[in-house]
Amino acid sequence: MIPRSFEYFSPRTLDEAVSLLQKLGPEAKILSGGQSLIPMMKLRLASPPFIIDINHIPGLNYISELDGYLRIGALARESDLEVSPAVTSRYPILVDTTSVIADPLVRNQATVCGNLAHGDPANDHPATMLALEASLIAVGPGGEREMPIESFFTGLFETALQPDEILTEIRVPIPSPSSGGAYLKLERKVGDYATAGVAVQITMNGGGVCKRAGIGLTNVAFSPLKAKKTEAFLAGKALDDSTIKQAAELAAGESQPIDDIRGSADYKRDLVRVLTARALNRAIERANGGA
Ligand SMILES: Cc1cc2nc3c(=O)[nH]c(=O)nc-3n(C[C@H](O)[C@H](O)[C@H](O)COP(=O)(O)OP(=O)(O)OC[C@H]3O[C@@H](n4cnc5c(N)ncnc54)[C@H](O)[C@@H]3O)c2cc1C
Repeated sequence: MIPRSFEYFSPRTLDEAVSLLQKLGPEAKILSGGQSLIPMMKLRLASPPFIIDINHIPGLNYISELDGYLRIGALARESDLEVSPAVTSRYPILVDTTSVIADPLVRNQATVCGNLAHGDPANDHPATMLALEASLIAVGPGGEREMPIESFFTGLFETALQPDEILTEIRVPIPSPSSGGAYLKLERKVGDYATAGVAVQITMNGGGVCKRAGIGLTNVAFSPLKAKKTEAFLAGKALDDSTIKQAAELAAGESQPIDDIRGSADYKRDLVRVLTARALNRAIERANGGA
């Protein structure tokens, strides 16, 4: 289908983009990678009358470590994660995540910030950012504000972003020594959205005990889910087989899947159990220096 007609704006600065959002009102939509917005417009699931394309604003395409954080700018593409030296050497969980999204054509256009801003529970980066305890920077008429990712996803395709705000940066705390993470997803076929996905990021104390665990779940609730009870259970525990098994069962219990074309709720809960155990094992290997 062909999208309904719309008015197109191409601001050259963030201030200009924010002024446009204010002037045009909540029906105006930011366009970054266009890999979710344009398909929705073509299917007429969305028909925004105004599109504000931020791709021509300089200075937003970066991935760099600075002042304790890995910073991912609004125009960093999903595929940029796969070739960033900082990411490939220190954040294998981000490479796991991006490499199971769609295909290279989509990843070359789609932005990591857009993946979060869309608020889709089936998107993969939200669970990973929940596990990593990232924070997000939004710019609006009142200036810049920082929010924890934990309070960002407020419902199905809903986020804490205000209609006149732009998500400009993701901040991931640089992992402390003996940290490791992994993202695992089951998809029906290559390029599909997750039937379920699990992101795990742990920090060990060096003696096999878990200091902190972050766990995010994909597509098993109406919004991306942080498995808080499982995280609390793991903190301070020796990560042996029995603890991993109990954690995996807890995570399955925290998931809230529904029956749909990708499987029954029971099947997806069991998938969360299996993927959590596998992701924990891989995260432990990586925390111990494995690839
Ligand atoms: C065939 C196909 C398969 C896919 N499979 C997967 C998959 O398996 N896993 C997965 O995670 N994703 C998948 N995607 C989605 C893809 O990763 C999306 O592009 C991404 O989710 C959205 O990023 P974008 O930059 O393209 O955003 P856009 O499509 O440009 O925007 C999406 C929404 O977010 C808003 N937005 C975008 N950027 C900002 C910003 N900086 N500030 C405020 N609001 C903003 C827009 O206004 C819009 O409402 C797939 C897409 C396609 C086309």
